[in-house]
Amino acid sequence: MDLYEYQAKDIFANYGVPVLPGAVAATADEARAAAEELGVPVVVKAQVKTGGRGKAGGVKLADNPDETQEKAEGILGLDIKGHVVRRVLVTPASDIAEEYYFSFLLDRANRTFLAMASVEGGMDIEEVAATKPEALAKVPVDAINGVDLAKAQEIVKAANFPAEVADQVAEVIVKLWDGFVGEDATLVEVNPLVRDPQGKIIALDGKVTLDDNAAFRHETHADLVDKGAEDPLEAAAKAKDLNYVKLDGQVGIIGNGAGLVMSTLDVVAYAGERHGGAKPANFLDIGGGASAEVMANGLEIILSDADVKSVFVNVFGGITACDAVANGIVSAFQLLESRGEAVTRPIVVRLDGNNAEEGRRILTEAALPGLVQVKTMDEAADKAAELAAQGA
Ligand code: GDP
Ligand code: MN
Repeated sequence: MDLYEYQAKDIFANYGVPVLPGAVAATADEARAAAEELGVPVVVKAQVKTGGRGKAGGVKLADNPDETQEKAEGILGLDIKGHVVRRVLVTPASDIAEEYYFSFLLDRANRTFLAMASVEGGMDIEEVAATKPEALAKVPVDAINGVDLAKAQEIVKAANFPAEVADQVAEVIVKLWDGFVGEDATLVEVNPLVRDPQGKIIALDGKVTLDDNAAFRHETHADLVDKGAEDPLEAAAKAKDLNYVKLDGQVGIIGNGAGLVMSTLDVVAYAGERHGGAKPANFLDIGGGASAEVMANGLEIILSDADVKSVFVNVFGGITACDAVANGIVSAFQLLESRGEAVTRPIVVRLDGNNAEEGRRILTEAALPGLVQVKTMDEAADKAAELAAQGA
């Protein structure tokens, strides 16, 4: 899970990394009140989970409360790389003497952690890496040894931080590492890490990605989820433990196994080119044990998407055999009917693999309304796209 800047900086503060105070505002009036409270000048910063806000007009300086309100009005609602700004962070404007870059991340290719640091911060670090790679120090960090003051000093030296801030930066690096480990993050990035005119080091921006696989050992992380920004269908699916991602097409997709579902998206998109541009409406992996309840929940989520005109159930029987899946589909139809949500849109089913024959027989015998069986994945994709185009 990626965090917003204000959440990242809250975590920094918990670990003793120097940050400036701030207030989150959802309206221009709230932003104005925050400026009155914090004292001007302030910076009004779009809270979106993407970088380059500065360049996109999402970071503005304001000299007084009126101007804060005005700047917040301009930023709220702004679309930054597909992310609509719903909140701004109002924070005291810091005078900046120098901007640096610092991050800890997971270096998958080298199976280690990596510290990256540069005294040329502020701008796109990708650009520094591309045009001036020697200005970006990359220091591997051993997971067992971690980052103590000596290691931090090694990083500071590799990046050529000025002598007068070296000790301060090293201390901040140790604290960032404590936060990186303590919160089970896969990324901690500070750009810019600044030196103010008084010589103090401050994290002016923050980006943190938490490892969702470690969520079970961080009770507080659930509170960091932005429920308002979640797609309602995705939230409903998550509540039912379904692996669902909403897409913008018309063919609902259910499959078992992430790889199969992803290739199903491809074949449906390809088939859709012959049928009015029909596209997959979602990704849904019901995993190995496709019980009736899981199948019913999956169908329910998919069918509550009004854009869905047909559904393609693509199952390759493995440990869970096709006859079990077929029984699951039959029970799912009954379950949905009993919930008052009888299936009325066409369902295309392709069963292959373990006990496919028996599975097909069960479905044929059940003669479920609107259910069509197709033997191969390509033909089934074509049928589902065709039905979606007809239903549109
Ligand atoms: P990003 O563009 O999304 O990475 O947003 P940042 O928080 O990094 O802000 C972009 C730039 O705005 C920074 O590199 C700074 O140059 C500037 N900026 C941000 N906060 C302040 C501030 O408090 N004072 C001043 N003077 N400039 C700031
Ligand atoms: Mn930044």
